[in-house]
Amino acid sequence: MAVWHKEVWNSIDTSVDNADIVALYRRWLAERGQSGGLPDAQSFGVQGALAAWAPRLAVLDPVDGDFTYRHFGSELRDYTRADMTGRRLSEGDDYYGSEFAAFCRDSYRRVLERGQPLYTVHFSCRADWVFTWERLAIPLREPGGAASLVVYNQPSERRERMLQEVLNTASDAILALQPLRLSDTGTQDWMVTVVNAQFARLGGATGDHLAGLSVREALPRWDAMGFEGFCNAALQRENGQQRDIELQVDDGPPRWFSAYFGRLQDGCVIRLSDITAVKQNEQTLRESTLRLQSDNAQLRQLAWMDGLTGLSNRRALDVILEREVARARRKKEPLTLVMCDIDHFKAFNDFYGHLIGDDCIREVAHVLAETTVRSSDLVARYGGEEFVLVLPSTSIRGGLEVVQRTQAALHARALPDATSPGEKLLTLSFGVAEFDAEVDDSATALLERADAALYSAKHLGRNRVATYAEGMTGRARR
Ligand code: GH3
Ligand code: MG
Ligand code: MG
Repeated sequence: MAVWHKEVWNSIDTSVDNADIVALYRRWLAERGQSGGLPDAQSFGVQGALAAWAPRLAVLDPVDGDFTYRHFGSELRDYTRADMTGRRLSEGDDYYGSEFAAFCRDSYRRVLERGQPLYTVHFSCRADWVFTWERLAIPLREPGGAASLVVYNQPSERRERMLQEVLNTASDAILALQPLRLSDTGTQDWMVTVVNAQFARLGGATGDHLAGLSVREALPRWDAMGFEGFCNAALQRENGQQRDIELQVDDGPPRWFSAYFGRLQDGCVIRLSDITAVKQNEQTLRESTLRLQSDNAQLRQLAWMDGLTGLSNRRALDVILEREVARARRKKEPLTLVMCDIDHFKAFNDFYGHLIGDDCIREVAHVLAETTVRSSDLVARYGGEEFVLVLPSTSIRGGLEVVQRTQAALHARALPDATSPGEKLLTLSFGVAEFDAEVDDSATALLERADAALYSAKHLGRNRVATYAEGMTGRARR
């Protein structure tokens, strides 16, 4: 038989995936089961149980080795652009071609002989297009006892169009290709077998009918997409490969796609899912994580820093003084502590207000930071208008030098204090104590002795420095 076709006689319902054909076949089986013979054409036929399929049905009566069309459904009329109602099958010879008419006559005759439905798929070559028909021919019994045929016809080409519509509604971009080895140049080319609207758009396609074209003809951006290598690799592999790919789309910023390259029969299929939004979320998350990390670092730093002056805070002082006292004890090195406090600052604040009071504290902090030059020195804001200098490897004499420098710098800066007696300049009082392993059993003990010295300086009239001497007592702290 010159007409390409495929036949299925048995278990049509399990070997065919056309839902209409499966349904018709099962109904026929059920009907025959009841009567034992062929189903009754009046109750089961196109006017009866099969009415819903009428547009795709043809009803034929056998006549003299030929067949006459009693019914020729509306869809069939549309597809063939002919109405065969009342006409003979053989009259279609000119239209279908005699080979095709012979194929139909032969298969219908065999259906009647066997009393069994027959499923066929065949190519129907028409002048303007080629498509495949799926057909189920079922035998029925007419009231007079003669057999007749109901033939369900569905152009597969139409089903392909439906599938194409399904593909086009998918959010993924899909392209299936068939490799072609070009004999003249020996280079690889690919023919488009399936492409949906999304892929066509990404590939920069301008036309509609892309299947059957070379992929370069169909998709002007094919080479720029850089997929060829992945397609070649997909042909060699059993399993598909997934990878994230950045693609330039239209004129906008590049977009991210999760791309799947897999083998499809002896060709390859590409599926692209736009994951730009996911990538952007990941990026935002990464950035905010980084920001959070640096915030944490900053917070950690802030935890040790005095907010007003930028000096170390009381917490830092406690930790560092503890460490330095331990080191001085271990290494038997000198360690001097200076505690200082702005004189009459309450009056200053009352007079100038808190904001200028804050500026003044910052100024003093600046002076202290400038005059304690060793990298191991620590200047901390102890609280309010009080500061502590921790001077490792420094004896009391060195500590006094630092104090003198500070006093000189402060004097040079001449911060005005209208509430201050005498020169109307801001002054500080200082208490100095050197670590003594004999008496300082802790950092607190050393702090308390420096504080006692400060208290003494205040007591002696302020704007001065006092070193700790035995018997001095400070204010109750902590
Ligand atoms: P003395 O010479 O004995 O140190 O007198 P004083 O007034 O400086 O001492 P007192 O401890 O009685 O007062 C400290 C004042 O310092 C209280 C408050 O008005 C001011 N003060 C403390 N901390 C701050 C601060 O952070 N900013 C400002 N503007 N003022 C502060
Ligand atoms: Mg004070
Ligand atoms: Mg004070």
